[in-house]
Amino acid sequence: MTKEKGRLGIMGGTFDPLHYGHLVAAEMARHEFDLEKVIFIPTGNPPHKENQKVTPSQDRYEMVKRAIVNNPFFEVSPLEIDREGYSYTVDTLRILHKKYPEHQLCFITGADAFREIFTWKDVHSVLSLSHFIGASRPGFDTNEFLEELERKYPEFIPHMHLLDVPALAISSTDIRQRVKKGKPIRYLLPESVREYIIEKGLYLE
Ligand code: NAP
Repeated sequence: MTKEKGRLGIMGGTFDPLHYGHLVAAEMARHEFDLEKVIFIPTGNPPHKENQKVTPSQDRYEMVKRAIVNNPFFEVSPLEIDREGYSYTVDTLRILHKKYPEHQLCFITGADAFREIFTWKDVHSVLSLSHFIGASRPGFDTNEFLEELERKYPEFIPHMHLLDVPALAISSTDIRQRVKKGKPIRYLLPESVREYIIEKGLYLE
């Protein structure tokens, strides 16, 4: 990635709940790609999770807020949770592009989420508005995704970057199941987030 402008990391995710894998990924991306800061943007009403129970956005926002409090390079934004209707990444990127015209946007999310990028709303604009950093779990196979990108949007190959994050062996799905089964989650996520989950009785159902 050439560096003509300052770079901003945009950390998009459901964060249900946020865990150390996300924090390590954001910090590694910040360092590797020389990002001025990383803005966490919890999804509001994700169109791709219509048939899935997602924790209310205010709770997910609050967990992110508590988790990042000690890192001066991390921020959280309610941009998507405050917006009515479905949250599409293209709308978020357009707003951020207007707000930070002097910056190059770098959208960070799970590399598995990128496999679906060709189904996202207005994918051409999505790809042109930002660079993408796909944080991958150990063993993630990127070949199929890169072949499809090469076939459909070869001009955006230079916008795609992958980052191996061994800590992403931790997953939100596993944490939710652990809570439900009464198994420990300590050390998988910040203590402030664990306390919030207990206080609110999240993931028991
Ligand atoms: P997801 O499908 O729930 O997650 C896919 C994988 O990526 C999971 O393994 C997840 O692990 C991991 N992951 C998610 N966010 C991550 C992050 N920031 N850093 C590292 N790993 C991450 O993905 P999602 O959270 O719903 O969506 C990811 C982003 O893509 C969101 O910003 C969403 O708005 C965007 N998106 C947009 C559209 C659209 O515009 N139409 C459609 C789909 C997704 P955990 O479960 O452990 O987090």
